Amino acid sequence: MSMNIMAEGGGSGVPDIKQQKQQISELLETPLKKGDSWYLVDSKWFKQWKKFVGFDSWDVYNMGNDASNPGPVDNSGLFVEGDVGNLKEHLIDELDYVLVPTATWENLTIWYGAVKNQPPVHRKVVEYGMFVKHCKVEVYLMELKLCENSNLDNMVPQKFSKADTIETIEKEMKRLFNIEDEKETRIWNKYMSNTYEQLSKKENTVQDAGLYQGQVLVIEQKNQDGTWPRQPASNNSSTNSSYKDSSSSTSTNSSRYITNSSGKSPYSYSSYNNTSSSDYSRSKPSVQEGLCGLGNLGNTCFMNSALQCMNNVPPLTRYFLSDEFKKELNYNNPLGMHGEIAKAYADLVQHVWSGQNSYLIPRNFKMQVGRFAPQFSGYQQHDSQELLAFLCDGLHEDLNRIQKKPYVELRDSDGRSDEVVADEAWSNHLKRNDSIIVDFFHGQFKSTLVCPECQKVSVTFDPFSFLSLPLPTKKERTMEVFLIRLDPKSKPLQMKVVVPKHGMVYDLCKAISKVSQIAPDKMAVTDVYNHRFHKVFAPNDRVESITERDDIFVYEVPVNSADDPDTIIIPVYLRERNSKRASFSYSSSSYSLFGQPMLIAVPRKQTTYQDLYEIIMKKMSRYVRRPDTEDWYKDDQEGNEVVENGETEMDSDSDSKEHCSSGEDTTQNHKEDPPTPPSKEKKTKSKPLDRRSLLFRMSLVNSYGSAELARLKDDGAPLRFNNRTYIALDWKDKAKEKFYIETEAEDSEPHESMNLRSVSRKQQVDLNECLNLFLTEETLEKEDSWYCPACKKHQEATKKFDLWKLPKVLIIHLKRFSYNRFLRDKLDTLVTFPTENLDMSSSVICPNGGPYQYDLVAVSNHYGGMGGGHYTAYAQNACTQNWYYFDDSSVSDASKEQVVSKAAYVLFYLRKDRVEEYKQSLSQVIARRGEETTENGEAEEEEHIATETSDRKLRSHTGARSKRHSNGLSDSEEEMETN
Ligand SMILES: [Zn+2]
Repeated sequence: MSMNIMAEGGGSGVPDIKQQKQQISELLETPLKKGDSWYLVDSKWFKQWKKFVGFDSWDVYNMGNDASNPGPVDNSGLFVEGDVGNLKEHLIDELDYVLVPTATWENLTIWYGAVKNQPPVHRKVVEYGMFVKHCKVEVYLMELKLCENSNLDNMVPQKFSKADTIETIEKEMKRLFNIEDEKETRIWNKYMSNTYEQLSKKENTVQDAGLYQGQVLVIEQKNQDGTWPRQPASNNSSTNSSYKDSSSSTSTNSSRYITNSSGKSPYSYSSYNNTSSSDYSRSKPSVQEGLCGLGNLGNTCFMNSALQCMNNVPPLTRYFLSDEFKKELNYNNPLGMHGEIAKAYADLVQHVWSGQNSYLIPRNFKMQVGRFAPQFSGYQQHDSQELLAFLCDGLHEDLNRIQKKPYVELRDSDGRSDEVVADEAWSNHLKRNDSIIVDFFHGQFKSTLVCPECQKVSVTFDPFSFLSLPLPTKKERTMEVFLIRLDPKSKPLQMKVVVPKHGMVYDLCKAISKVSQIAPDKMAVTDVYNHRFHKVFAPNDRVESITERDDIFVYEVPVNSADDPDTIIIPVYLRERNSKRASFSYSSSSYSLFGQPMLIAVPRKQTTYQDLYEIIMKKMSRYVRRPDTEDWYKDDQEGNEVVENGETEMDSDSDSKEHCSSGEDTTQNHKEDPPTPPSKEKKTKSKPLDRRSLLFRMSLVNSYGSAELARLKDDGAPLRFNNRTYIALDWKDKAKEKFYIETEAEDSEPHESMNLRSVSRKQQVDLNECLNLFLTEETLEKEDSWYCPACKKHQEATKKFDLWKLPKVLIIHLKRFSYNRFLRDKLDTLVTFPTENLDMSSSVICPNGGPYQYDLVAVSNHYGGMGGGHYTAYAQNACTQNWYYFDDSSVSDASKEQVVSKAAYVLFYLRKDRVEEYKQSLSQVIARRGEETTENGEAEEEEHIATETSDRKLRSHTGARSKRHSNGLSDSEEEMETN
């Protein structure tokens, strides 16, 4: 890379820090452009660089200070341990890395060099979004699983950019499976449900094609006779349903969905599968109405899960099946989607409840959602609750019976009674909002704010369509640390301890003390990063300041404070000389750190160079072999020479420096304490060490170990230390190789606590606890303080929620995802909730209304962690009263007991006193629809609501229609797919 050029050039040409700051800050303004390369830089390094150049005006105290020099660009924190080049999973932008444009990367590596053997991490800018495009650096590539049609079991994982085309993938597959370039091939998308979709548009990108992480792609070679092994099923096929492609309006034959030719059915709900095609009629449906899987379009399980839940809310589905909604479509509402969302949803509901499909691909619905809510348009994972919120809103505005929203003036409560204020707020709400969604999904809660200063009380009544309930979070946190004991023979002990989440570092020490018997005040808690002490924590530092990613090493120390009169604790780093070509111009040190840093206890006074050497050698005795003199000499004549050379060279360049920086201390020392050796015995034993047999030289360095402050002098005089002393051991070239046993040094021992797998995680809470937490009065934090109209300023007011009026369909969202600056986490606490008879009446404060007993009808589940995972749904079918499990295209039986799990994320409850009425009413509509369509299928279809495109297409297909009808294939299938 370009950095090598500079290394030769020496320090010249490197701009001063002011210019560096200027240049880089300009470059960081570079806009993202599709196809450009950006580079990842470890935030830790970048922050250090910012300090060094005084990048941020509030942090200029270390500007230009050599001790702040960040050294060569170091990305080691971004890689999987032991696998340089392979990025750790779930790195977070800004927190773990910063993205810099190519020119910035080049500048930084020219100025500072880069750590050896670390490949630069560059990534392409790709466009996201289907309708509204925005550029993003693709930090993580997508892994696809590639296989041949003739051998589906041999799947080869391969990473691709979202910007790669199908053509690129095809080429790669040909290479991978030794298929000649000239050979005609087809690429298929293989879904979990054994469904195949041909990827015929070769110019489409991975992104366009909606491929997702882990997607299986199959390459198929043409037979000698010109046929294909994987023949698409014809429309006349009696067992396979064939769907025309929907996304491409130009060529309807560009891709097809066919079932696996191996004969395995895509209908995972097998009991409805044994009907032959001639039985496809509406009076005797082939599939139970409502039991229709939804195919995954690539990371769309969040949408499928949300749709299955909504679909199984009987009064809403009844509304869309009865076509009542058509009269209420509001095309003029500026807040709506011109009726498009409602129409697309209605279309979907009608197909799901037609009894004709065991699964369908909700492509049109997804397109419509993407049109109006660009955040859902890509194929990334999204939150099913966010989509539900969007859907509820979208349906509401599209079906709002209010054509022109009147202006409504909001009045302060002014001490009027709750009933009056609540009624007024509700009727104001209804003046602007009146729809099926309001009828069934909107409730009302009361929020009370009290100013801590003037006691001003503000009461408002707000509508809601969700109850978002917090989960009680753990008050404790499990931390993983390494304990380094005083005994040099014992290996670092890896252990897990439980500490109060909001506790202090001292609490951590107490927890370790319980397990280790070491007194809590005889510990030093450190964050070790890149072989140095990144931070040494004070006992009253907050545990929260330690992130999950920090490597915490706790050192046992013999004295309990830095102020001990006799003993001082000194950090010691290990360094080795950089190989000649690897050192770069700007780096102030020609040494780099290695191994585990140490904390050593030495007598404050009277410690000579030799004493210190002995103490350190003893400390390292577990992993450093002590050379006997003969061994050293006999072994390597050349080595000797190198060592000698090193010595002389170092001596000459440091002598003067040493005298001016530490000379004063030494003289002082001489005055106060005559240099008496600490122990007579020791002195006699260790005759002056042969300098050539020393493994390392010792210097005073800065806290980063990057800059040398002074050479420690081996003249038999006591050394002088202070609380800012850091010592580096500069290993001689051959000595490390010969006497430092790396495997031993890096070895550690797991404590039994490592087996205790997060006991606290298994906790279980009840839905009521979440509800109570929601209803508990809280004090607002500074960031979301309240503007008190009386004091005319922001106040950290107290806030309290109460439930005033609950809707007929109560959606409860469990806030499992927590976001803050340092942590994005998912709580997988089991929340137990009743499937029947959820009684909310005691939590509702309005004296009339209700009854508020509810039965569960659906649950949206989330499995896995943050930023990924899988969504499914449980729902009760209104016709059969049984529970089913919806997992994308598959639908299977479920029991009511299964529904309560720690995956449960959004719960759908229906008011108990109305359940029967709603279900019957839905069943009736379904039955009526069945009869109507059997009598007059054509008429029904003509009237059927459809988007313009599908309408046009339907007409153009009219000729073929009657034929298909006689075949028993319904139009709805066709139409659904052409949408
Ligand atoms: Zn106030």
